[in-house]
Amino acid sequence: MAVYNYDVVVLGSGPAGEGAAMNAAKAGRKVAVVDSRREVGGNCTHLGTIPSKALRHSVRQIMQFNTNPMFRQIGEPRWFSFPDVLKSAERVIAKQVSSRTGYYARNRIDVFFGTGSFADEHTIEVVCANGVVEKLVAKQIVIATGSRPYRPVDVDFHHPRVYDSDTILSLTHTPRRIIIYGAGVIGSEYASIFSGLGVLVDLIDNRDQLLSFLDAEISDALSYHLRNNNVLIRHNEEYERVEGVENGVVLHLKSGKKIKADAFLWCNGRTGNTDQLGLENIGIKVNSRGQIDVDQNYRTPVANVYAAGDVIGWPSLASAASDQGRSAAGSIVDNGSWRFVDDVPTGIYTIPEISSIGKTERELTQAKIPYEVGKAFFKGMARAQISHEPVGMLKLLFHRETLEVLGVHCFGYQASEIVHIGQAIMSQKGEANSIKYFVNTTFNYPTMAEAYRVAAFDGLNRLF
Ligand SMILES: Cc1cc2nc3c(=O)[nH]c(=O)nc-3n(C[C@H](O)[C@H](O)[C@H](O)COP(=O)(O)OP(=O)(O)OC[C@H]3O[C@@H](n4cnc5c(N)ncnc54)[C@H](O)[C@@H]3O)c2cc1C
Repeated sequence: MAVYNYDVVVLGSGPAGEGAAMNAAKAGRKVAVVDSRREVGGNCTHLGTIPSKALRHSVRQIMQFNTNPMFRQIGEPRWFSFPDVLKSAERVIAKQVSSRTGYYARNRIDVFFGTGSFADEHTIEVVCANGVVEKLVAKQIVIATGSRPYRPVDVDFHHPRVYDSDTILSLTHTPRRIIIYGAGVIGSEYASIFSGLGVLVDLIDNRDQLLSFLDAEISDALSYHLRNNNVLIRHNEEYERVEGVENGVVLHLKSGKKIKADAFLWCNGRTGNTDQLGLENIGIKVNSRGQIDVDQNYRTPVANVYAAGDVIGWPSLASAASDQGRSAAGSIVDNGSWRFVDDVPTGIYTIPEISSIGKTERELTQAKIPYEVGKAFFKGMARAQISHEPVGMLKLLFHRETLEVLGVHCFGYQASEIVHIGQAIMSQKGEANSIKYFVNTTFNYPTMAEAYRVAAFDGLNRLF
């Protein structure tokens, strides 16, 4: 068995692993990354964020072609199959793998392809696909092995029509009707993708409101637009059993209802990839979701072992995972690049897109904070009209006395980009965080950013 020595070994090459490896390497550490997949990028690139966002982008283009009257001169509405749109996602994945592979090479980071596990707290054994075992000895180790869909034992995922968010990417046809079980972010995004392709969708929600952590008005808007696009949302439902039949799947709900579809997509929960790590060899325990506890330095109970990304739980976003990984390495190299990641914007790529940061109206009302609201509706804005994107709204919540921006909530075209302007102002200290910024600053015109000016005037006009 070959033995290699490193300062830092990182398990997993998703955003968390990459963030950790790059930061440690830039601080002069000798770094190795291990990934059980034969390409870098993690589940983020291969199964999660990238394929789902590329799919969504293609579906939006199809929807625009089919609904914009200008395109009728070049042809009638056309529908594309799921495998057709998947091809564009595959192209993006390949490009992402290529650029990310380059980052590791440029930063002199060794990459091992194989499954890593702890032999002891400084030693990782990597079992490569060809059976060869390599031993990596490191001063510090960062666990960034991510997560996978949770699979309850009473659902038969071997049935050819039962999928989870990983296996749906191997769907070789377009179902006429699909049941999506779980109306969290991933379920709602896939409901948008399939309904955009003209598939009838039953979206099963365990709760009484879609994505209830969102501002209620935004959550209501999402429900409205999903319904408008042929998604049947069924709230407060739980499965009793999932029955695979020859030509489809029958979902039996505890409420007594039965729903049949050509395909069933399970989107209810994820579990941390910790079961193959040999954590018992170093005394690290995981919770019921397979996640590892860390402190604010991303350190596990074992002093030289750190963890970041989905494997530590909240918020389970690529955006945050990357910063958490960078911060874990920041704690190791102690060069001021550590930051505890606790304020993360929401970016949800449903159709319409949603993004928000800060407090919701519900939270501010409960806390008895005297706030005011300013809104801009996209349908009245020049850029939205030019882009044929009338659906959407920006809502600013601000303190009616200090004028401090307390929350930014947006849905519609470019929502996940628009939110960052508000985020930048919200992160200013003292009087620099003021809604007045948006009325005292000249914005490009016509832009979606203009929504801030419109919303700020609307809000300031309410003050007396
Ligand atoms: C459908 C879907 C859509 C999403 N959309 C978004 C989005 O729009 N925006 C967003 O910010 N987030 C999104 N996410 C979440 C995002 O993908 C995750 O938060 C992110 O991938 C977590 O990154 P990570 O580095 O922790 O782990 P991962 O990306 O999960 O990578 C972990 C890597 O570790 C490897 N590994 C596991 N065990 C071992 C082992 N024992 N040895 C070696 N390697 C191992 C895995 O093979 C994998 O390559 C989405 C997720 C899904 C499922």
